[in-house]
Amino acid sequence: MATNLNLKGKAEHTYDAIVVGSGISGGWAAKELCEKGLKTLVLERGRDVKHIEGYDTTMSAPWQLSHLNRPTRQMLEDQKVQNRTGYTVTPAHGQYFVNDKENPYIEEKRFDWMRGYHKGGRSLLWGKQSYRLSPMDFEANAKDGIAIPWPINYADLAPWYDHAEKFAGISGSLEGLDQLPDGIFQPPMALTPAELDFKKAVEAKWPGRKVIPGRVAHLTAPTPEQLALGRSSCMYRNLCMRGCPYGAYFSSQAATLKAAENTGNMTLRPHSIVHSVIFDDETDKAIGVRLIDELTKETTEFFAKIIFLNASTVASTAILMHSKSKRFPEGMDESGSLGRNLMDHHLGVGATGVFEEHLDKITYGRRPNGIYIPRYRNHTEKPTRSYLRGYGYQGGGLRQGWTRQIDGFGEEFKKQLTSFGPWGVGIGGFGECLPYADNRIWLHPDKTDQWGLPLVVANAAFRENEINMRLDMRDDAVAMLEAMGAKDIQSYNNEPAIGLGIHEMGTARMGDSPKNSVLNKWNQVWGAPNVFCTDGSAMTSAGCQNPSLTYMALTARAVDHAVSEAKKGNI
Ligand SMILES: Cc1cc2nc3c(=O)[nH]c(=O)nc-3n(C[C@H](O)[C@H](O)[C@H](O)COP(=O)(O)OP(=O)(O)OC[C@H]3O[C@@H](n4cnc5c(N)ncnc54)[C@H](O)[C@@H]3O)c2cc1C
Ligand code: SF4
Repeated sequence: MATNLNLKGKAEHTYDAIVVGSGISGGWAAKELCEKGLKTLVLERGRDVKHIEGYDTTMSAPWQLSHLNRPTRQMLEDQKVQNRTGYTVTPAHGQYFVNDKENPYIEEKRFDWMRGYHKGGRSLLWGKQSYRLSPMDFEANAKDGIAIPWPINYADLAPWYDHAEKFAGISGSLEGLDQLPDGIFQPPMALTPAELDFKKAVEAKWPGRKVIPGRVAHLTAPTPEQLALGRSSCMYRNLCMRGCPYGAYFSSQAATLKAAENTGNMTLRPHSIVHSVIFDDETDKAIGVRLIDELTKETTEFFAKIIFLNASTVASTAILMHSKSKRFPEGMDESGSLGRNLMDHHLGVGATGVFEEHLDKITYGRRPNGIYIPRYRNHTEKPTRSYLRGYGYQGGGLRQGWTRQIDGFGEEFKKQLTSFGPWGVGIGGFGECLPYADNRIWLHPDKTDQWGLPLVVANAAFRENEINMRLDMRDDAVAMLEAMGAKDIQSYNNEPAIGLGIHEMGTARMGDSPKNSVLNKWNQVWGAPNVFCTDGSAMTSAGCQNPSLTYMALTARAVDHAVSEAKKGNI
C-alpha cells in the first residue's frame, strides 16, 4: 500500500473536525459541526450523488425504466445479498445499493448486510418511519438484568429528539403514550377509511392498543428553515427511493449536507474509504484518519482534533477494530465488547386480509406512509408466550387495483380490471432483539477486499426470545384483522434473518465503564475522547422502534459535547 503522507502537505490535510460517512448520522454530524463554526472534512467512501441532478430515475415514467422495472440477470447476480429484501434491486433504484461482488463479506451465519455506498448513504433509501425510544426502552436492560444498562436516560436525549425533529421535519399525531413519546410534529398524514375502521375496532377491543398514523420524515407543513433549504411539501408520489426532487423527505442531500454546505465550513471528499483512526502513542491522542482512495487505491492521511465515525454500524466497528496502536493493540476497545451484541429488528411476520366496506371511496395520491401500532406487550398487556420486551406493527389499508386476483373473461373481466377491488389490509411486526454477546462481527485475519481492507465476518442469529415473540406477533395480527371484520385473512411468519430489518445496531455500545463498553455516555471512545461514534453501533439495546431518529439525536448531542469540551481544552 503506497503512502503519500508528507509533512509539508500536513497543513492542507488538517481540519477542525473529520466526519466519516455522509449518511443519516454523518450528515447530522457535518451540519452540527459546521454550524458551530468548525472547518469540517466529510469523508465518504462512495460517489457524489448530487441533490436533484443526481437522481437519474426520479422522473422516469414506468415505461421509461428498463425491463419494466424488473431486475436483470446481471443485477441479480451482482446484488445477491441486496436482493434478499425482494424490493430493493430494480432499475429504478438498484443503483443506490452496493454491488455485493465488489463489496464482499463472510457470513458464518446468514447476515443480510444492506448497504448504500454513495453520498447520503441510506438516507436516500430509508422508509422515513421516525420514532423516539421511550423511558421504558432506556431502562429495559437494567430492569431485566440483560447485557449492560444504558448510561443515559430518556430525559438526557429528549431535547435532542426535539432538535432533530424540528430540523428534519416529522409528520405525526400527538398521542400522549408513555411507550412512544410525542415529539415536535408537522400535521399527520390522513388514515384511509379502512384504516379508520381498523383503528376503531382494535381500540374498542383492546384498550391498551393504539392505531396511529405512521410518524414519517416527510414535510407536510414545511417551516421557513426547511423552505429556505429548498425543501417543499410531500407530493404523495411514493417514488422516494429514487431520490426526491422536492426535498420533501429527510435525506442528507436535501437537509443536513445542504445546511452544512451553506455555512461554507464543509469540505466533502467522495471516494474516500476510511481505513482506520490514527492514534499517536506519544501524545496519547487520536490525531486523524487514514483512508484509501476508492479509485486510485492510494493511502492518504487527514488530521483533526475531533473525529466522528458515522460509517454505519458494521463499518464504524470495522474501522475501530482496524485502528491499532501501542495503546490499542487490538483496535480501539479495552472491554472485549467491540463487535459483540449485534442487533436488528426481526420482521416478516404478520397477516393480510381484505375488507369489503366503503367500496364507494378511494384514496388520493400515493401516500408514502401507513399506520403504526405502538408496543403493548410487556407494557399494557402481558405476553401470551414467554419473552421479554415487545413489538410494534406497521401496515395499512388501500383499495386493491388491477394486480389483484381477477377471474373471468369478456366484458365483465374488463370492467373488473379497470375498477378498484376491495380494501387490502395488512400489518407486519417489528420486534425487539435482545443484545447477545455472541452475536458478533470481527475482521478476517487474512482475507481482504480489493482495497486491502480485511473482510468483515458475521455470526449472529435470533434466539428463543425473538422466536417466541414472533408467535404473538403473528396471532395478534390475525386477531386484530378479525376484529375489524376482514376476510380471507392469511398469516405469515417467515424465517427471520439478522440484517433484513435494515436496522443493524450494537457492536460498539455505550456504557458507564471502559470495562464493559466501547463508548461512554457522550459517545466518546473510552481512552480516545476526541473520537466519537454516533451511528447504530452505539446502541446498548434496540427497542422495537425504527432507530434512525435516535442516531440523529445522539449525534447532535455528541457534537454539542465535543465542541464544548474542545473549547475548554479537554479534548
Ligand atoms: C430500504 C430501507 C428502509 C429503511 N427504513 C427505515 C425507516 O423507516 N426508519 C428508520 O429509522 N430506518 C430505516 N432504515 C435504516 C436507515 O437507513 C439506517 O438506520 C440509517 O441510514 C443509518 O444511518 P448511518 O449514518 O449509520 O448509515 P448510512 O446512512 O448507511 O450511511 C453510512 C455512510 O458511510 C459511508 N461509509 C461506509 N464505510 C465507510 C468508510 N470506511 N469510509 C468512509 N465512508 C464510509 C457509506 O457509503 C454511507 O454513505 C431503512 C434502510 C433501508 C435501506
Ligand atoms: S412521496 Fe413525497 S417525499 Fe417521496 S418522492 Fe414523492 S414528494 Fe418526495
